[in-house]
Amino acid sequence: MASILPYTHDNITLAAAALERGEVVAFATETVYGLGALTFREQAIERIYELKGRPLNNPLISHVLDIQHARSVAVIEGWRPAELAMAFWPGPLTMILPKRPEVPLAATGGLETIAVRAPKHSLARALLHAAGTPISAPSANRSGRVSATLASHVVEDFGDADLMVLDGGACRFGIESTVLDLSGDRAVVLRLGAVGADAIAAVLGTSVEVTPGAGQSASPGSSEKHYAPRTPSMLIRRSDVERETAAGSVVVIAAGGLPSLAGADVEVIALPEDPDACAAALYEALRAADRAMKPRILIVEPEGEGVIWDAVRDRLRRAAMAS
Ligand code: AMP
Ligand code: MG
Repeated sequence: MASILPYTHDNITLAAAALERGEVVAFATETVYGLGALTFREQAIERIYELKGRPLNNPLISHVLDIQHARSVAVIEGWRPAELAMAFWPGPLTMILPKRPEVPLAATGGLETIAVRAPKHSLARALLHAAGTPISAPSANRSGRVSATLASHVVEDFGDADLMVLDGGACRFGIESTVLDLSGDRAVVLRLGAVGADAIAAVLGTSVEVTPGAGQSASPGSSEKHYAPRTPSMLIRRSDVERETAAGSVVVIAAGGLPSLAGADVEVIALPEDPDACAAALYEALRAADRAMKPRILIVEPEGEGVIWDAVRDRLRRAAMAS
């Protein structure tokens, strides 16, 4: 059975010992909860894929303390990674760099590149300190499903597994990190997150391409249906709510909520109107919509502008993609 452990020094020590024995441990970060194993433990990494039902070619992010620590898994050349780490680490920016030969291919989905990120959450950092070596961790959800932003979400998905879940509370950002491919000459954002392309471009002094969904092999998680509730979900415009809800029992997720819809069999889940708060509440809202057990979920597409709204819309579009 999965067990939620409060964030204490003793439990960090316990979890680090489990990682050292080759076990998988779930833990909080400031983006989403991660399902972690030591990057250099091939069998433990394979267990992550097995638990998640994750396609073997979908690579993992290796979590490190800082740029020096990143050197144990990635080849860091030139000034770009160091400058970006100075600007955005610890924080929600993942960089894709050539991998060091010692890193097992199991940890990179068979690729010669590796994704690295230094998380900011003190729990994740304490665990990295105690483990003393990088921790590979994808989001702690079943493959393709909604990411976990509370310890209880991890138990929702992995309750049957013998798994420690280190509880660091609700994730502050609530959406996954920005993924930036720096493995070639160009800088390409493969996944939108809280660190925007403009902010990256300002540090690099060059243009940054943004191609979420580019090529399955480049970044599988960025192109598929993803972040999806189990219930069939559809993205709609606010102006279509009345028409779409007339057809029968439904859950509607909407930033700022909705005026009551007379007579309709509708359960409304309101998301905050502030972009940061909306992102933080997003996955709990998608999970709550599933728990409502209605036949359909309607998601009102938010219209705000800016980096966070772009990332939120990206997740909602993938959540509502046909499978
Ligand atoms: P997750 O940890 O579940 O949020 O997923 C990690 C994301 O980073 C996925 O979209 C992966 O495809 C992407 N990723 C990780 N490593 C690489 C890599 N070496 N090259 C391209 N994308 C990567
Ligand atoms: Mg994921």
